[in-house]
Amino acid sequence: MYDGIPLDATATLPPLVDRNYNANMSRAHNLFRLQEIDLLIDKTKQRVDEILAILEDDETIEGVKTDLSKAAEDLAAQNSAVNLAEGAVGDQKYKIERTESKLYAGKIQNPRELQDLQMESEALNRHLATLEERQLELMMEQEEAEIKHESLLGQLENLENDRASEIKTLLLEQEQLNLELARHEGNREGALASVSVEDLEIYEKLRLRGGGYAVAILEGSNCSLCGVAPSESTQQIIRKGTGLVHCEQCKRILYSG
Ligand SMILES: [Zn+2]
Repeated sequence: MYDGIPLDATATLPPLVDRNYNANMSRAHNLFRLQEIDLLIDKTKQRVDEILAILEDDETIEGVKTDLSKAAEDLAAQNSAVNLAEGAVGDQKYKIERTESKLYAGKIQNPRELQDLQMESEALNRHLATLEERQLELMMEQEEAEIKHESLLGQLENLENDRASEIKTLLLEQEQLNLELARHEGNREGALASVSVEDLEIYEKLRLRGGGYAVAILEGSNCSLCGVAPSESTQQIIRKGTGLVHCEQCKRILYSG
């Protein structure tokens, strides 16, 4: 029902979108409500920043990639060392075969010459044993290099899979947070309608030096944030909510809750 308020008086009425607006609410109450929204905005923004930092941080995967490329180089070096050792063993066996075929072909009759050949064959065989031992050592090192390379490949694959699902989850959360942030910003606009420019200025300054808290609650007879109790008469003023009363200790605005 139209109650007879002249049309131009509607300019002083609270905005319709602000359902929490109550003209009788104290300035401290309105600032406290603004602070609750601002704290939510701070928390949301902090998580958004954390997510951005996690998304940008590829250090672990990059570290494994570096190790993997080093392991691939080591493996390639081991492979060629084994190939060389195999070649040396093959050459040595060929030399032995040639010497032994001369020795057993029966064409050489001279005992001195036969003895020399025998000694040469023995020396060649001794060196073959050394070459085969070295080949075996290299093959074992090659196997170790293969195991290391395989293990890093597996590690990288797991990390990349985990990372892909982590990124997916974080992007979803980021999307959600951005929606929340837009909602909080809308609520802030609504809350600001009940706060004067002067009070907002005081609030912003206090919030900056008070670790995000410009308003403290009077809990019992104490400031909820620093614990100091204002005098009885000050407490009464706070409870009436007529003006802004600051805590003597931490300087924050006290709100009776
Ligand atoms: Zn205080």
